[in-house]
Amino acid sequence: MLLKDEPDIAAGSVGAAADEGVTTAREAASVADANFDSYARDALGTGLVRGAATTLQVNITKRCNLACHHCHVESGPKRSEAVSEKIANRVLELLERNPSLEVLDLTGGAPELSGQFRRLVTGARALGRRVIDRCNLTILYEPGQEDTAAFLAENRVDVVASLPCYTAENVEAQRGRGVFDKSIEGLRWLVELGYGDPGGDLVLDLVYNPGGAFLPPAQAELEATYRDRLAGNFGIRFNRLLTITNMPIKRFAHDLEREGRHGEYMSLLVNHFNPDTVAGLMCRETISVGHDGQLYDCDFNQQLELGMTGPASSIFDFHDAAALTGQRVATAAHCFGCTAGAGSSCGGALD
Ligand code: SF4
Ligand code: SF4
Repeated sequence: MLLKDEPDIAAGSVGAAADEGVTTAREAASVADANFDSYARDALGTGLVRGAATTLQVNITKRCNLACHHCHVESGPKRSEAVSEKIANRVLELLERNPSLEVLDLTGGAPELSGQFRRLVTGARALGRRVIDRCNLTILYEPGQEDTAAFLAENRVDVVASLPCYTAENVEAQRGRGVFDKSIEGLRWLVELGYGDPGGDLVLDLVYNPGGAFLPPAQAELEATYRDRLAGNFGIRFNRLLTITNMPIKRFAHDLEREGRHGEYMSLLVNHFNPDTVAGLMCRETISVGHDGQLYDCDFNQQLELGMTGPASSIFDFHDAAALTGQRVATAAHCFGCTAGAGSSCGGALD
């Protein structure tokens, strides 16, 4: 059943933060020179540096069966970049050498489309690591992916699944026609395999991101609404809802520029800078690796080709993840997307 009469969270009508909207062009001009490093320094009392890394996040392919409006990777069916066997081997070698890297987080594109996906999953699981698959759900129905859901369950892979709304209208405005029904079917399939059971070990988290130039609603409030709607209408359970802010880069930034709203969105982010989010920024504990093995502080920096500040620029340049601790994080204006309102990271809100 499609829920056409739901509150329009894609237009920002639900939740404490969503009613802020974009601000005026005059306010945008006043924040144009805001410097993220100085905001972060004021919040922390020191510069923004990396802490101990616990997660290796690898963008294993830019190919995707979808081509969403907000995609910061600019993924789509025509992209072909993907990790080689050599890079995958090095990722597993680094995990073996660094027990402190507890999590292998596989992202893309649609990571399942990479020829190295299953090797990385089974290799990391054999090393006792938690593995995350950032799954768009519809991929489970693509030719050649018929056994992917079962593979994920067998290997106890955590699934972090994109579902930017619990209504068809909003999901399809962002991700394309037919995506909502397939996403719901994908979620049902995962739930049948045991995912999302609070007493089980098959983790199913959902990801919400706004359908436009506004901040996400409060995470806990929205999670309760998702839980209610998805259980009531589709019999779907899940573990957590993660709210993620649209970053002002790549496809979403181009949309904003086309609409003449980029400055206003930046103003919204800067004006809602929350100092309490800075200590928990994901760049402090994540090592982001590109399909070509290059190192970054996060996936957003990766898409901007904003490399790490230290001497190591690729996964072949270091052996000990601890060597990166204390290194200054590479930042730019887009970083305000992580610190606005309740904050944003691959693990959801920060405050
Ligand atoms: S599903 Fe994810 S990776 Fe694919 S186009 Fe959409 S946002 Fe990008
Ligand atoms: S964009 Fe990346 S580097 Fe900047 S604050 Fe966010 S996680 Fe950190």
